[in-house]
Amino acid sequence: MSSPVTATERKYRDSVRAALTAIGPDPRDWAVAGHLPREVFPTLAEHGVFRDRWLPGAAPGVPRLIAMAEELSEFDSGLALAAMGHSEVFIGALRWLAAGSTQQALLDDALDGRAVGCFGATEPHGGSDLSGLRTTATPQPDGWHLVGRKRYVSNLGAATHLLAVARVAGSGPRDLALFLVPLDAPGVRIEGFFATAGLRSCDVGEVSLDTPLGPQALLGAPGMGLAYASRLLQFERLSICAQLLTAGRMALGLAAAYARRRMIEGKPLLDKQAVRHRLAHAHARLGVAAAALRDTGARAVAGEGFAHEVAALKLVVCDTVERVTDDCLQVFGARGYTTNFPLEGWWRDVRLARIGGGADEVLTELLAGRLFRADPRFDAELDLLTAADTPRL
Ligand SMILES: Cc1cc2nc3c(=O)[nH]c(=O)nc-3n(C[C@H](O)[C@H](O)[C@H](O)COP(=O)(O)OP(=O)(O)OC[C@H]3O[C@@H](n4cnc5c(N)ncnc54)[C@H](O)[C@@H]3O)c2cc1C
Repeated sequence: MSSPVTATERKYRDSVRAALTAIGPDPRDWAVAGHLPREVFPTLAEHGVFRDRWLPGAAPGVPRLIAMAEELSEFDSGLALAAMGHSEVFIGALRWLAAGSTQQALLDDALDGRAVGCFGATEPHGGSDLSGLRTTATPQPDGWHLVGRKRYVSNLGAATHLLAVARVAGSGPRDLALFLVPLDAPGVRIEGFFATAGLRSCDVGEVSLDTPLGPQALLGAPGMGLAYASRLLQFERLSICAQLLTAGRMALGLAAAYARRRMIEGKPLLDKQAVRHRLAHAHARLGVAAAALRDTGARAVAGEGFAHEVAALKLVVCDTVERVTDDCLQVFGARGYTTNFPLEGWWRDVRLARIGGGADEVLTELLAGRLFRADPRFDAELDLLTAADTPRL
């Protein structure tokens, strides 16, 4: 069951809006530049966007996570991608695992936007199979030596720190660990950035690592990196769903407004049954997906597991919003395909979600795993049906 919006949640949403007002009137320049200005993070932090999100804790703060994702993505989808990664993965990891004064100080810096985190799991040879990672941390008498390469790191240009997933030398391929890597450390080099189809204000880069790190660079226990990353990704997936549904809602609102005004054969386009049914279906699909997001959020708040639920939700939301943005672009005709209108931007932006944060195929495999589990009720029912499966006179 979804819970009603509380006054504190409304207040939180208002503070995100106030931060966005303070950031400025128009983020379009960021997409042209291909980078976010780092100053947006302290501005968000000054309004309590990160501290207040984390005040109730990881799972109880999920309604704020959703509010943050919705408000940021309405403002700029690239900012949403970067800031949610900073909050849900980087701060999330530190809030959960930080030990010792150096890591606690970094957490404080991240909550205040002085430190900006990005996440590096994917490598040049692939991203879906984390047990195939090659970046390796070798223990040293005074810490670690980290060698490898991380590719497709979102917000690498504005970040100060990389949270890197790496193998620990001498252990098995699934024995991964998380490392906090300052991006200005010796032996850390940003190799460049990739031009992408959408989300252009959030850069996506590659970083090479051949760097000595102190003992405080290891976050959490060695060998637990895969489990840590899986848990952090659940929160990121919730955020992705909220971002996508925002894009879908905005596309639908604009397409409906257009269909009410555009006159064809002397009548509004919305009078055409094919068009209004297309938009009505979009409305229905978005509504159902939004209710499922609220339910998954409520599950998290109640302290229940939501790994499978959020994987399923992301699959369905991606599919839904991809179709909705495409349908809405269609209603706009040629205008929808031009950059004078935001439809083509939403259409391009949402495509990433079927690849990043757990690709469709990987999430589907995760869910398919459940089908192999015995189910006493239906196994027994099938036994009865099979026993009675004889010819009759
Ligand atoms: C804009 C952008 C931003 C990104 N940001 C980040 C970031 O901040 N940090 C980060 O670490 N990564 C990031 N990524 C990388 C993203 O997480 C990976 O692209 C994703 O994990 C998939 O890895 P891959 O691209 O190497 O595809 P591959 O692993 O090569 O997979 C290729 C195809 O094979 C499919 N496939 C893989 N395994 C299976 C299987 N077992 N069964 C069936 N099909 C399978 C995949 O689903 C996919 O369709 C970003 C990518 C982009 C494009």
